[in-house]
Amino acid sequence: MRHLLAATALVTCLVAGAAGANEGKLDYAHQEKWPSALDRAQSPIDIVTAAAVAADDNEPQGLQIWRSVSPIDKVEDNGHAVQVDTHSTEAMIRGRHFTLAQFHFHAASEHTIDGKHYPLEGHFVFKAQDGRLAVIGVMFAEGEANAAAQTVIDDLKPGADVAQKTIDIGQLLPKQRGYYHYLGSLTTPPLTENVEWYVLPAPVTMSKAQLDAFLARYPRNNRKLQPLNGRPVIRYGN
Ligand SMILES: [Zn+2]
Repeated sequence: MRHLLAATALVTCLVAGAAGANEGKLDYAHQEKWPSALDRAQSPIDIVTAAAVAADDNEPQGLQIWRSVSPIDKVEDNGHAVQVDTHSTEAMIRGRHFTLAQFHFHAASEHTIDGKHYPLEGHFVFKAQDGRLAVIGVMFAEGEANAAAQTVIDDLKPGADVAQKTIDIGQLLPKQRGYYHYLGSLTTPPLTENVEWYVLPAPVTMSKAQLDAFLARYPRNNRKLQPLNGRPVIRYGN
């Protein structure tokens, strides 16, 4: 009960701050004028590694992924990103169960790590049964060719048939599963907040030709960095 009262007091206080004269009153006739909380916790952000705080010892810290070889439902260029819909891969993220809904790519990376962009960032969008979203962000750098990335590139070609094809999500994730976690938002409209982000700093490689294949479709589809506004960035693992 106490935290409910505190939350009510906070809302009242925020409204009062905006409304001035009507101190302490919630104006239910003009709810559209209530201050929105939807611009305070946006993504992406620059991850300042030295400022990240270590996770509490009593937090379940693992990022376990299984059934990583998953059937491809659809590979599409949806007008703002290359996206792969797939539905079998599951994850246990900080002790809660999620299922992968889709993944897509941004160029250059949306998140930066100590100010550094990577050529490409993959967003693996996981959904819990109650609708909660957890997105795993993976950085891609130039190096060895990536078989799973090639599957995506091949399936984008006109006439490609993805029926009965699978993709190994594990090939698109780094072996080191240390991550930075914070609460943010979708990075495309409607920019919904309260999205859990898990940004893996260990990059995965693609060949130059593979990176170029993604960049040929979207040389730039990354949202600009958003202010942290005091949110904690929590470090798990290495
Ligand atoms: Zn994204």
